[in-house]
Amino acid sequence: MLAPVTRPNLPETATAAILRGVKGECPRCGQARLFRAWLKPVDHCPACHQDWSVHQADDFPPYISIFLTGHLLAPVMIAIGGSDALSMTAKIGIAMVLAAILMLMFLQPAKGGTIALQWWLGMHDFAPGGKAETSAPPKGAPGSPWG
Ligand SMILES: [Zn+2]
Repeated sequence: MLAPVTRPNLPETATAAILRGVKGECPRCGQARLFRAWLKPVDHCPACHQDWSVHQADDFPPYISIFLTGHLLAPVMIAIGGSDALSMTAKIGIAMVLAAILMLMFLQPAKGGTIALQWWLGMHDFAPGGKAETSAPPKGAPGSPWG
């Protein structure tokens, strides 16, 4: 049985929503996990009932992950590239292992942040979105969707 719907603790800014998503929390309420598996978001938030199945993060999280990994790995590659102490095989091995670890590390936070941004902006089936919901009249006020 679903819990009664009350106005959740909505984020006040896009940054707050994205930070919740990056942390793997529900961007709308922050009270439940956004992911049921590593990259698989829950269909609905158990706390606020937001439908997360409509997100379309697609290739953007891997793009963010690769972008961040490249920028963090560049100084390391420059440092070990100039070293004569390591063989070329060792340098390539270090780079490949570090790149794989960093990309895998960033993937879930990037997906959470992407889903949160889509929700905030009301993209796809998230319309009208978190920004519109946050600026809606509070509970009890005329025109409030919360009664
Ligand atoms: Zn929620």
